Amino acid sequence: MSSASPFVDMTPDDFISLLRKEEVSRVYWVWDQRARKVRCSHPFLQEFATRFESDAVDYQKHEGIFLEIGEQSGALLGAFVHNSVRGQAAGGVRYWPYSTLNDFLYDGIRLAKGMTHKNALAGLWWGGGKGVIARSKNVDYRDPGVRGRVYADFGKLMTSLRGCYVTAEDAGTNTGDMLHVHGATRFATCIPESIGGSGNPSLPTARGVLSAIEGALAHRGMGTVNGKTIAIQGIGNVGAPLAQMLVDKGAQRIIASDTDPHRKDAIDASADSSKFDVRIVEPDDMRILSEQADVVSPCAHGATLNARTIPTLRAPIVCGAANNQLEVPAADGPRLSERGITYVPDFLANRMGIVNCANEQYGYVPNDDAFDRHLGRDWENSIFALTREILANAERTGNATDVEAVALAEQFAKTAHPMWGHRGQAIIDGLVAERWALGD
Ligand code: NAD
Repeated sequence: MSSASPFVDMTPDDFISLLRKEEVSRVYWVWDQRARKVRCSHPFLQEFATRFESDAVDYQKHEGIFLEIGEQSGALLGAFVHNSVRGQAAGGVRYWPYSTLNDFLYDGIRLAKGMTHKNALAGLWWGGGKGVIARSKNVDYRDPGVRGRVYADFGKLMTSLRGCYVTAEDAGTNTGDMLHVHGATRFATCIPESIGGSGNPSLPTARGVLSAIEGALAHRGMGTVNGKTIAIQGIGNVGAPLAQMLVDKGAQRIIASDTDPHRKDAIDASADSSKFDVRIVEPDDMRILSEQADVVSPCAHGATLNARTIPTLRAPIVCGAANNQLEVPAADGPRLSERGITYVPDFLANRMGIVNCANEQYGYVPNDDAFDRHLGRDWENSIFALTREILANAERTGNATDVEAVALAEQFAKTAHPMWGHRGQAIIDGLVAERWALGD
């Protein structure tokens, strides 16, 4: 690969072709702590190693980035381990269309870093990682046969990585897909209830978002959800139950938008439909964010809070489930603070999905404190308590709320697992020493 032909604009499919030409099916980039350099498995990957090393924003000494061409599916599969100090890296696997290899890699590294923050802030003994699978235009990703092969291959990748990363559900992946992953590895959570898993995490996630909204209302001295108007963008797996929970807590009105008419039908059929005002919108219609409401809750997708939308917001609080709501965190966090808007960082509000997944391997007990304490008021790491702490810190320091949340998360992330220490790094060292990239 010549230095004049960057990978940056290469599509994932082109990258697969390149790997096949080089007769390579696995590649990696790992952080070499001693040399303080990014090491790659093959010389032709050096360009990305250099790119990561010089990136002060998204790349943060990720312990390992492992890519493989799925044996049966031919899909480009990625496992990203950001930090395994607190335990095995945990985070969901996303099956998504990416225009370029750069987008694929950067989505993986950003999301993996976000999982370190989310898991540490939740007090979980898990590190942060993420799986990313490139959805090729050349296959019908809805075809059950295709999905079966893609996710079985992803399970095999998990097995080959020996547990430094434990996967779960994420955007584009469903519980049925997890069954295929689990068929090929034990390093999978969020598996169906029928085989002992915790199933769909959306309901717990909605409960966590509710708790964060309550924390933000208390912080602003606005009382409780009772009598409030909440605007929700996206009434999907999280947004719909959240809307119902808010009504159950006495919310006066829910204004919601969705791009899918079926979602509206489901809400209209509910018992409290008179409290809901659901609008079907085009994907680029962001007007829901500027509704006159007490709280705006982004529950559709990321990057909705940006230079275009923030100036239009009218609600004093923004708190929702969507991942990566700030399009450009360094600019959009301060933009929100300058407008006096209380923003609850997404990775604080939406933790309950991963809590649910992470806890499932320890078995189930009735009235589980390991779950309930996240939603209560007493535990110092509860969503309510941390929301209040982080918002108060931000008020005191003048920093954006996400900056305060990241600072606290990074502090927690330095504490090694009390029993297993930094074992994930030892696993990665073993993979490199035993030439993982040459295996199959
Ligand atoms: P989902 O796909 O079930 O719901 C998203 C909804 O948003 C869909 O109904 C979709 O039609 C709608 N939508 C898409 N674009 C829209 C737009 N421009 N305007 C209005 N509506 C739009 O997803 P979900 O599981 O409910 O997750 C929602 C968000 O929360 C995602 O960003 C997800 O990554 C994040 N999240 C979910 C969980 C979980 O447990 N499900 C956990 C953590 C984070």
